[in-house]
Parts: sequence; structure tokens; C-alpha cells
Amino acid sequence: MAKCPVCGKGEITQKKGKTGIFYACTKYPDCKFISNKKPIAQKCTECDSTYLLDESTPDEKRYICPNTECKTVY
Ligand SMILES: [Zn+2]
Ligand SMILES: [Zn+2]
Repeated sequence: MAKCPVCGKGEITQKKGKTGIFYACTKYPDCKFISNKKPIAQKCTECDSTYLLDESTPDEKRYICPNTECKTVY
């Protein structure tokens, strides 16, 4: 599994919840990372986010910045 891009200590694990699959950090609750999209360890060039979220479809690669004020798409 990939290292957590938020805290850099935990690992991202895939979990299954009521609403479907989601991703969380093994260091929870110390690390609050949780998302229904897979995190990618790639820095956003438009803000200080240390990761992007994978919104890819089978046809197209698409990463989006998780910062609500940025939301840059790659
Ligand atoms: Zn973490
Ligand atoms: Zn950004």
C-alpha cells in the first residue's frame, strides 16, 4: 500500500464502508486523512497540497487537488 501523503508516517488502506469503498490512513485518529478517492503522492503546483486525488476513469487519467479553494485538475 502507498505511504500516506498527508502525515508521511502511516499507510493508506482501502476500506469498505456503508457508502462504498474509501481510503484512510493507518495512523487514524492521529492523521485525519479519509477520502473516497485514492490519494496520489504528487504535489499540487498551484497550492501547497502534498497530494492529489485520483479521479481517473477507465478512459482518462484525471487527478484533482483536494484543496477546496484550489481544485486544480491534472
Ligand atoms: Zn496519514
Ligand atoms: Zn492545489
